[in-house]
Amino acid sequence: MDATLVLPRIDLDTCNGCGDCVDVCRVGALVIRELKVAIVSAADCDYCTDCEAVCPVLAIACPFEVVVAG
Ligand code: SF4
Ligand code: SF4
Repeated sequence: MDATLVLPRIDLDTCNGCGDCVDVCRVGALVIRELKVAIVSAADCDYCTDCEAVCPVLAIACPFEVVVAG
């Protein structure tokens, strides 16, 4: 399984930079950069999907919820 290629997908047009996903990400994989969320530590993502669950505008999605490679 190559998990490093499967990351939360961010819709930068929709993201309003609220930071809720950054706050909820317990591994620090996300930051706000120039008023938009960015993935800074992809290798640390443990696929919890909390970022997707907390986003008020559905700007971040976790494709690994449905994609099982292997
Ligand atoms: S899925 Fe979980 S660990 Fe990965 S970026 Fe989102 S909140 Fe962080
Ligand atoms: S919770 Fe959603 S709107 Fe807020 S910073 Fe994260 S992706 Fe952007």
